[in-house]
Amino acid sequence: MKHIYFVSLGCDKNTVNSEALIGALTRAGFGVCTDVLDASAVVINTCGFIREAVQESIDTILEFSEGDAPIVVTGCMVNRYREEILKELPEVAAVVSPNDSSTLVAELCRLLGVEGAVYPRTEDYENRILTTMVGQAYIKIAEGCNHRCTYCTIPAITGDYKSREPESILREAVNLAKRGVREVTVVAQDTSCYGADLSPKTSLAALLTQISGVAGIEWIRVMYAYPDNIDDELINVIRDNPKICHYLDVPIQHASDKVLRLMGRDTTKESLQALFKKLREKITDISIRTTIITGFFGEGKEEFNELLEFVKEVKFDKLGVFEYSEEEGTAALSLGIKAVSEKTREKRKEEIMLAQQSVSGEILRGKVGTTQKVLVESIRADGKYVGRTYADCPELDGNVIFSSDRTLCVGDFEYVKICASDFYDLFGSA
Ligand code: SF4
Repeated sequence: MKHIYFVSLGCDKNTVNSEALIGALTRAGFGVCTDVLDASAVVINTCGFIREAVQESIDTILEFSEGDAPIVVTGCMVNRYREEILKELPEVAAVVSPNDSSTLVAELCRLLGVEGAVYPRTEDYENRILTTMVGQAYIKIAEGCNHRCTYCTIPAITGDYKSREPESILREAVNLAKRGVREVTVVAQDTSCYGADLSPKTSLAALLTQISGVAGIEWIRVMYAYPDNIDDELINVIRDNPKICHYLDVPIQHASDKVLRLMGRDTTKESLQALFKKLREKITDISIRTTIITGFFGEGKEEFNELLEFVKEVKFDKLGVFEYSEEEGTAALSLGIKAVSEKTREKRKEEIMLAQQSVSGEILRGKVGTTQKVLVESIRADGKYVGRTYADCPELDGNVIFSSDRTLCVGDFEYVKICASDFYDLFGSA
C-alpha cells in the first residue's frame, strides 16, 4: 500500500474539504501516514484568499520539496494561481482543482504507478475522515458566495453560492453521530443564505431543526452568518431549540457607513445596532462572535474611532480582527483611494484588541459563580481538563480549565462551577 502525507491549510471549510479528500484516498486504497518519512507522496490542500495565506502555502510546498516524495497541490490557491504554480514551482508534481477527489486519485496513481485504484464517484462529505477533536466536527453546508465584498477574493476562488442538498447533510450528521460526534459546527462562506438557491427553497433555520433531530448530536453551532440575512425565523429557532447553541458568529468587518459602503457590504451601523439589540433581547444569554478589518481604504481617524466606539458599545463576546490586505484581482484596488499605511493598520488592530480584551474580561467576570455545561476537549499533564461552553466555538474562542473527581474522556460533557476568570478563559471545578 502507498501512503500519503496530507497537509491541510486554511479555514474550517478547507478542513472539511481535506477530510473528504482523505476519505476518498483511503477508499481508493491509499494509506494516510502521520510521518512524512513514510510517505510515497505529499498532498497539500492549500489556502489562497490573502497574500499571507498564499505565502504560507508556498512555504509549505518548498518545505516538503526537500524530501523525495512527489508533491501534489490542491485547494484554493490552485483556483487563484494555477498557471503561476505550474510555471514558477517546479517542485510541484501535479496540480488538482479543489475538491476534485477523482483527479487527485488519478494523479497519485500516475505518479506512484498504482493500478486498480477504486475511483470515488462523487464528493463524499458523508464518509470523510475526521481530523478535528474527538466529539466534534464541522459540517460545510454550501460552497461559494454571492456577496461581492470589494476586498474579498473568495467569490473568484470558489464561485457563486451553492447549497448542499439537505438530505446529504442529514445523512452526514447521522453518520457523524454514529461516530461519536456530539457537537457540530455549521460552516460556509455565508451560512445564513442557505437553501435560497435550492428547489424547493429551504432555509438555515429549517436545516438546523432537521439536524437537531439526529440522535447523539447535543450541540449545533452556527458560524459565518451574514448580518442582513439573520431573520426572525433563524433567531427563534436558535432561541427555542435546546440543541442549538445560543451562539452566533456574525462577521461585520466594520461599523462606519462610509467604510462599509466602500467594502461593498450591504449593512449599515444602524442595521447592525438593531440586529445585535434584537439578538440580545430575544436570546438573553446569546454569545456573539464577530470579525473586523482595520485599515481599509477610506478609514480615517474618524471612521476608525467610530469602529472602536462600536466595539465598546456592542460588547461582542468574541472578536477576531484582521489588518486589511490588498489583494490583486479585487475591486477594492480600483477604488482610487489612498491606502492606509501598514503601520497604522497594525496599530488600529492592536487598539481594537485592547478594547476587546477589557470587554471580554468584563463578560467572563460575570460568569463567575455560575455553573456551565462544558464539552471536554483535552486533559492536561497536571490532570486538569480543558473544555468549552456553548459560548465558545472550536479553535477560536476561549476555554474552561477545570478539575473533576470523576475520570472524564475527551468528548464528554461535564457541569462545572466557575470560580475564576481571566480575559479569555474560565476556571472551575466539576
Ligand atoms: S461574504 Fe464577503 S467577505 Fe465573506 S466570503 Fe463572501 S464576499 Fe468574501
